[in-house]
Amino acid sequence: MDLEAIAHNVAVLRERSRAPHFMAVVKGNAYGHGLLETARTALAAGADWLGTAQLSEALALRRSGITAPILAWLYLATNAGGAIAEAVEHDIDISLGSPAQLDVVAGTARALGRTAFIHLELDSGLSRGGARHEDWPALVAAARAAELAGHVGVRGVWTHLTWADVPAHPANTSAVAGFERAVREAHDAGLAPTLRHVCSSANILARPEFHFDMVRAGLAIYGLSPAEHIDPADHGLRPALSVTAPVVLVKHVPAGTGVSYEHRAITHESRYLGLIPLGYADGIPKGISGSRIVMVGGRRVPVIGKVCMDQFMVDLGHETSVRVGDPALLFGDPAAGAASADDWGSAINSHGDEIINRIAPRLQRVYTHGR
Ligand SMILES: *Cc1c(COP(=O)(O)O)cnc(C)c1O
Repeated sequence: MDLEAIAHNVAVLRERSRAPHFMAVVKGNAYGHGLLETARTALAAGADWLGTAQLSEALALRRSGITAPILAWLYLATNAGGAIAEAVEHDIDISLGSPAQLDVVAGTARALGRTAFIHLELDSGLSRGGARHEDWPALVAAARAAELAGHVGVRGVWTHLTWADVPAHPANTSAVAGFERAVREAHDAGLAPTLRHVCSSANILARPEFHFDMVRAGLAIYGLSPAEHIDPADHGLRPALSVTAPVVLVKHVPAGTGVSYEHRAITHESRYLGLIPLGYADGIPKGISGSRIVMVGGRRVPVIGKVCMDQFMVDLGHETSVRVGDPALLFGDPAAGAASADDWGSAINSHGDEIINRIAPRLQRVYTHGR
């Protein structure tokens, strides 16, 4: 994990953004990069907000001493286990999108004698969190009443776009127009939110007119492609994460040797096989078998045979200079000749985000500053 790459990417994106505020999205253990290390790096590099999905992640940041503003948008609004009370006590901003959620959050704040800061979420089409347009007037009216009673403060109004990963999609323009209408309705109800936020990574790069007061950057701060036709390198972004393992065994096998379970692969001539101690329990997708995607001994070699739970084999060729202990680079910075996480994603008909997010906790994380 190259923290310098994350710092660099935050600085590049912050420079690109027209919005005065910049949220680094660190949900999912910072997309596998490490919650705390990433959060600290992003804040030092110019992010002034942190975003998490789950409240538990936001609380973990606070417990580690992070005092920057944090928004969490996914939680069970029953105050089960006192989670919402804990969030309010720890100054975590909470998103909500229904009067029922508002009741619980406002009631919790009232019981604590505190004000809960909230961001009202508009459902602009995703049909995920947030209030639909027809339910929005009731939500803003209830929020204004709770605000006047001193239980909540409406700090933000936000939405997440259905076509967040397809910036040119025409539906984005109409969704943002709907968002602007929702903001006007919030003002008409007497609210004065200072943070309007819409954009995730792809639209930060492609749609500056959607930046409003804050952008929410995930994939791009990790140097990964946020959309089909956006190459992070074209924007000066560098991947922070590389995955390496030593070759733990080099073995010569004759022509006609079946490799791995069910002998899905059979050698056509005598080969050297390299054993890599990572498998699907570590997040290596089974679908990667057959792809020439692992860098060993200065070149890319294919994964041969089925990926096992803890290990897989690479085909080192008819002759090889690779020795036990040599490093195999699974993915990393393409500028250094490696396959990227996005290349791995493409090889399994998915995207780099799925690859990095499935890297298992048992892989040792090593943090560097620069390559
Ligand atoms: C994950 C997420 C983001 C960040 O998206 P990226 O495409 O990774 O930049 C932003 N906003 C919300 C609501 C999210 O869930």
